[in-house]
Parts: sequence; structure tokens; C-alpha cells
Amino acid sequence: MGLTLETGVERLPGIGPARARSLAKLGLETVGDLLRYYPRSYEDRRRMSEIASAPEGLPVCLRVTVTAPARFSRVRKGLELVKVELADDTGVLTATFFNQGYLREVLHTGESYICFGRVELAGHRRVMTNPVLEPVGKARFTGRILPIYSLTHGVSNNLLAGLTLRCVEECAGLAPEIIPQPVRLAHSLAEAEFACRNIHFPADEMALEGARRRLIFEELLCLACGMALLRHRRDREAGIPFQLAPRAGFLSLLPFQLTGAQLRVMGEMEADLASGTPMNRLIQGDVGSGKTMLAAYGAWLAAQNGYQCALMAPTELLAEQHYRTLASLLEGAGLRVGLLTGAVKGKARKALYAALEAGEMDLVIGTHALLSEGVAFAKLALVITDEQHRFGVGQRAALSAKAKGRPHVLVMSATPIPRTLSLVIYGDLEVSVVDELPPGRSPVATYVVGEDKRQRMYNFVRRLVGEGRQAYIVCPAVEEGEEDGQAMDLKAAVTYAETLRTQVFPDLRVGLAHGKMKSKEKDAVMTAFAAGELDVLVSTTVIEVGVDVPNAALMVVENADRFGLSQLHQLRGRVGRGKHQSYCVLVTSTRGQDSRERLRVLSKTTDGFKIAEEDLRLRGPGDFFGSRQHGLPQLGIADLAGDMRVLKEAQGAAEELLAADPELCRPEHRPLLERVRQLFSQQGDMFN
Ligand code: ADP
Ligand code: MG
Repeated sequence: MGLTLETGVERLPGIGPARARSLAKLGLETVGDLLRYYPRSYEDRRRMSEIASAPEGLPVCLRVTVTAPARFSRVRKGLELVKVELADDTGVLTATFFNQGYLREVLHTGESYICFGRVELAGHRRVMTNPVLEPVGKARFTGRILPIYSLTHGVSNNLLAGLTLRCVEECAGLAPEIIPQPVRLAHSLAEAEFACRNIHFPADEMALEGARRRLIFEELLCLACGMALLRHRRDREAGIPFQLAPRAGFLSLLPFQLTGAQLRVMGEMEADLASGTPMNRLIQGDVGSGKTMLAAYGAWLAAQNGYQCALMAPTELLAEQHYRTLASLLEGAGLRVGLLTGAVKGKARKALYAALEAGEMDLVIGTHALLSEGVAFAKLALVITDEQHRFGVGQRAALSAKAKGRPHVLVMSATPIPRTLSLVIYGDLEVSVVDELPPGRSPVATYVVGEDKRQRMYNFVRRLVGEGRQAYIVCPAVEEGEEDGQAMDLKAAVTYAETLRTQVFPDLRVGLAHGKMKSKEKDAVMTAFAAGELDVLVSTTVIEVGVDVPNAALMVVENADRFGLSQLHQLRGRVGRGKHQSYCVLVTSTRGQDSRERLRVLSKTTDGFKIAEEDLRLRGPGDFFGSRQHGLPQLGIADLAGDMRVLKEAQGAAEELLAADPELCRPEHRPLLERVRQLFSQQGDMFN
């Protein structure tokens, strides 16, 4: 059977419809998919030894002969044993297998096998439990570095390793060389075929390193090229030039003076908006740094020019909060401001649609509801998204598509991304940073405590509540895609809330919010908390993007070691929004000095960028590329990469390539362009 990259997995030996379905759950439908499904880690099964000299407890391969027929016994229901005597020139060994009864039939006396496992001593006898046995000469999973893949129900590592081995043997040579030759040579990168072979079945450590480096480079190169192509295309589009109006008109609306950082970013926005090319700007700034005022400025400027502005927020509550703030601010300047969420129905909704279409509304604030079919604008010129990591790039594009021509785009994010990464992650956007908090904020006092201080933590909650304050208690994140883990974490929050309610704080008002609740219920709980009807809110990280509760003065995070520092910082931003001194208590049961040290970074600084840099240094860029950045294409291997140098090299290479061939349309760049298109294919119509 001749395999190609397009061959469906169901055509591979041993794969029936059921297994094909399980493989599809991992996104594996073709031989090409298998080859691009990179191992999560490796097990070194190369070390050969002899029975007498094998180091106790360390994994080794032995070349052995079966000296007597296997013995079978059923200890009890569900527990079967097979025992086999093995020998080499130096000694004898008893191998015990649990629940692998079929071995009786396949192990033959007198035959030789490679046996991989750990030799243990039982009295004077040497034994092995559940070793891997393969006939000499037919070894596939022993005597080499074995890939370990991420699995799913119905797909074992042996199955996957067997499949990739087959595919690598037949098809590694078909892996397309997408890196242009001069780039490959300039950066000493391995060839595609070599990388494909050695990422799955590395000949040795050096070969693995070479394969890895090349594949990471390849992926980051595609990402950088894709982002640059997007930017290039936009830069050539005509924007809607705004006339600048005297700032004083806007500033006089505000009850406070803007910070230096806010004023600087206003200047950056002005330059974009007046330039004649569309603005594509990201505003990054810690929670509480005052990004909303910058959105207000954009909306005000648009209105001065007779244009409309739309602001999209990820939740109804947040949209409502923005609506209240911005309406009271901007209506003073004569702007007509509307709110569009799922809750706006019937006549009210119709009236809103009509006003937008007739140009009788200057600013509309809303949720995804803004993307509804019925929403049309007379003169939309500025699209703003808040907490942009909650939106896909596609959704941003969908809102922009409601404008006639190319609107200006402003995205606001409270997730600081280290500069080195923001080029890749937000490569299609200019970045502004609001790196200054409004005056008069006292930093949130942050403590890292162990389980032994739990009682004191509870007492502290009680004391603050006694003073009239409110507290959040956050349990570990519900990981996306991990179904089992999700159920467990969810249960943790639910049962924990129950314990707190009935045993720890029976006299306090304890509420619960988590991601699996209907958003109505969730919003009801959050609203009750904001209204001061609850003392303690137990939740998962759903509160990360939340409404302002100035009276909340304490954030407790359970199992804090399971979060990234940036995420903890984000959570901490939920408190300290009012006039009260606020606190953050990070509870961890880990004894590891390293992870405690990591958490202590938070008690030492409140600078989100420093914290992000620290996250990057300690945990690598995976967190930043992870599921929280929904705008990005899914990466296969760069997720795992900790090497910033490769990132910079790939970045530089992309810049050079595009400087010479801005659209990647030269024939030698075709394969690269194809891959970039593929990588971004889930991102909607960006590349049409
Ligand atoms: P974020 O950047 O998290 O979106 P917000 O825009 O919600 O921050 O601002 C947080 C709070 O700070 C709001 O109550 C806002 O009114 C207030 N604020 C914003 N800018 C200033 C300023 N320059 N001086 C004083 N208070 C400010
Ligand atoms: Mg905000």
C-alpha cells in the first residue's frame, strides 16, 4: 500500500472505524496529521545491559531467552498473572505480567527477546514487573528513544507510536520543505525529512535537538509571516482619516486628570486616526490603569468627525458597566450612546437597530450581540474590543465587516505580554502600553501562605467581612479541553463552596459562580455580589474578567501554584479598586521552594509586565501561546518551546523574507505561503 500524506488513517493496518473516530478526536485524520502530531516527551529505551550487572531500579534493555513455558494464574477476578523465566549469559530473571494473559500464547521457550524494564531484587532473585518484550530483530519499541504522545480514550501510546513509526518509515521523505533554502542554511536548520524522522524517533539527543529546533523555527516563521502579511495588507488599505479636535473638549468631561500614560496613548491614537491608513492598535495595561477612558476618547473623536463607534465586551455585565460609565461621561458632550446585549429584545432592540442604521446613535456598547445579522451601521468608523483575548481574531473581523470600508480598530487587553512575545502574538497590531496607575491607589498587599495558615486565612476573611468588606475565594482554573480534570475542578469549587457555607462561614452570605453555570445564573450571582448581597464569592477563574466591586478588599486564591503568575496578577486586579486597603492571599500546599519563590514574585511587584517577563523566564512562552490567546492559530510544537532565541531568529528571518517578497508570491516561497494559509485557515476570512 503506497501511503501519501493525504492517506486517511482508516487505511492504516489495525485501524477500524472506532479507532479512526478516537484518532479524529486528537485531530488525526490523515498520515500527514500523524506526522505533524509531535510527541509530548520521550522515553529513553536505548541502554543495553545484562541481567547480572543491570543497575537496580533503572530502566534498561536486556537481550534474553525464554527458558521455560510461561505460568498462568488467576489470583482473583480481574487479576491475572503470567510469570516467565528469562536468562542471558550472566544470570536469570523472573518477569511478572499483570492482566496480559495473551502472553502465554505468544512467548515461546528457547526464543530470544529484547526485554525493557526495571530490574528489582526480591531476596536473591532478580525480577521485573510488566516489562516490554519484543522478539529480537523485530523490536519496534525497545532499543531506541520512544516518543510519548498525548493520548485520548481508545488511543494508547503503543498504538500511536506504531502508527507514526509506519508513517515515518514510508513518508518522511514526503514532508514538504517549506523553509526556503537560503533561510535554512543561514540558520543551520535541519531538513524537513530529517526533522520529521527525528522528532518522532530520534537517533540520539543531538538529532532530537536538531529536529526540534527546526520545527519550532518553522512554526514561528509561519506565524511571523502570517502576522506580517496581515499587517502588510492592511497598511495598503485606505482608512478613514479623522480630523483632530482640541483635546480640551474631551478632557473637560472627566472628573479627574488623566495619567501621563493615558495622555501618551491618546497621542498615539491621534497619530493613527489622522494618518489616512486604518488604525490597528492594541492597548495593554494592567487592570485599573484606566483603559476605558481611552476607548471613550476614541468614541468622542469619532463622534466629532460625524462617525459611529462600536465597543464590544466579552460579557453582559461588563458591557453594562461600560455603558453606565461611558453614557454618563459622553452624553455630557451630546453623544448618543446605546447598549446592545442579548437581554435587549423586542421593540427596544428594533429601535436600537433603526437608530444605528440611521446614524442616530454615535456609540453602541454591547456583547457578541453586536455581531447579529440585523445590526447595521450608517457610518461605523471605529471598532473597539475590550479584553481582546476573549475574542477570536475572526470576531473582531466580523464586527469590522459591518463598516463600509476599513474601520479603525482598537483592542484593549489587561493581559500583559512580554515585549519579545508581543511581536509574534500581536504581530498585526501596533502596541501601546498604559504603564501607570491613577494616583492614590495603594497596592494590593499580597501574601503567600501554606496549608498550616488556613485557619488564620479564614479568620482574616471573617474580620474583613466584619468591617463591611467583601471577599473573593478562587479555586483552580477549569482547564479547557480536559474533560475529566474539568469535572474534578468543578466539583472542587462546588463542594468547597458548600463546606464554606455550612461549616466555615455558616453565619456569612456565601455565593458560588463557575463557568459551567448558565450565564444568567452566573450574572445573577455576580450582580448580587456587586450589590453587596453576598459577603464571600467562591468561584473559578470566571471572575477574571469581571465588573468593578470597589467594596471587595480580599482575594484568596486556592492552589495558587496551579496558576501562571500573570493570571494570578489578573485575579488580584479584581480587588483594590476602591478606597479600602486590599489584600491578596495565595494559598499553596506545595512544599517546593521553587514554586513558593515563584509566587513570592507577586508579593514583591505589582508591575504586570515584570510579572509576565518572570512567567516567561520560569515557565516559557507556553502560557502566552496557550488557550487564553484565542486570536492565535493553534501551534503544534512552539507551545512547548522555551527558547526565545529561536523566536527572535524566526522573527528576523520573516522580516527579511517579506522585505524582499512582501506577498510571498515568488515560486520558491510558495510552499511557505501555503503553510501560512493553512495555519491561519481557522481564522475566518483574514486571508482572502
Ligand atoms: P481598566 O484599565 O482596568 O479597564 P478602568 O478604565 O476600568 O481600568 O479604570 C479603573 C478605574 O479608575 C475607574 O473607576 C476609572 O474611572 C478610574 N480612572 C481611570 N483613569 C483615571 C485617572 N486618570 N485618575 C483617576 N481615576 C481614574
Ligand atoms: Mg477594563
